[in-house]
Amino acid sequence: MRLYSLLAAAKINLYLEIIGSRPDGFHELVMVMQSVDLCDRITVRSIGSEEIRLRCDQPDLPTDERNLAQQAAQLMVQKYPEGMARWGGAEITLEKRIPVGAGLAGGSADAAATLSGLNLLWELGLTQGELQVLGAELGSDVPFAIVGGCAIATGRGERLDSLVSLDGLYAVLAKYQNLSVSTPWAYQTYREAFGNTYLNDAARIEARRHQVHAGEMVAAISHHDGPAMAQFLHNDLEKVVLPAYPQVAELKQRMAAAGGLGTLMSGSGPTLFTLTTSQAEAETIATQVRSQITDPNLGLWITRFASTGIRLNPER
Ligand code: ATP
Repeated sequence: MRLYSLLAAAKINLYLEIIGSRPDGFHELVMVMQSVDLCDRITVRSIGSEEIRLRCDQPDLPTDERNLAQQAAQLMVQKYPEGMARWGGAEITLEKRIPVGAGLAGGSADAAATLSGLNLLWELGLTQGELQVLGAELGSDVPFAIVGGCAIATGRGERLDSLVSLDGLYAVLAKYQNLSVSTPWAYQTYREAFGNTYLNDAARIEARRHQVHAGEMVAAISHHDGPAMAQFLHNDLEKVVLPAYPQVAELKQRMAAAGGLGTLMSGSGPTLFTLTTSQAEAETIATQVRSQITDPNLGLWITRFASTGIRLNPER
């Protein structure tokens, strides 16, 4: 039986700045993204019939075209019908470990793994760059999810420059399992509150991009300096998400007070993370936060910075 099993990593945003509005209605962003080793598991398996079947272990996620993995598979069928004609259809199985609607881009990770998996299954020989171009059709975070590691992302988030991935850093992730934040809501609310501060001419947007590129956060990463990097953690979306979700704002305070290098919300939230330089320190922080917040909905994960987005699962 032909089968590939892949691991698809979640990402955190070490930096997220909204610099303007784009003619296509999206925001012009500068982000620093980092993969962490909290992974969904995706298996793609050849089946005789010419169809795509998606199965998922999380019953509240749809398996039809609303699922990004299904959208990714349909895109591959449309662009490379010869793959399915030669090798048959595929059954795709998602084992979700990345929380949904969390600001960790789990859906994008699944789409990235589906593109990579079908590329292998159908022996298409697409390069990582070609997979990223396909991924950009599915969502702004998909190109990063394919390559992973650490990167500065501009445009809608799909234009990437790789940075060195900082080895040996850990992130304690915290999220109330019963709480998710809609990404469109977060950006729309930000636009209503701060749209008047947006840069609106191309030259100033380009200049700001360059400033961040040449700025302290990227310099700290280039110097492998975790503590310096933590000083420049920043996420504009905290300005709208934390006031609207006081429970998350309070959790951020507790996380920050528990220690570590720095605490920030990832993407549009509500996941928060605290960076540490050791697993032991990450465990101490998680234990302390757990002892202070008895809500059984609070999920805590200890993750390590990862240097890849999609990789073969060594356990299968
Ligand atoms: P983003 O910041 O890219 O919106 P996120 O981490 O906040 O990502 P996701 O977990 O990717 O959120 O899910 C966002 C929405 O996408 C959810 O409403 C979910 O129903 C839908 N979705 C579609 N496919 C998937 C998938 N494979 N895994 C998770 N969510 C998915």
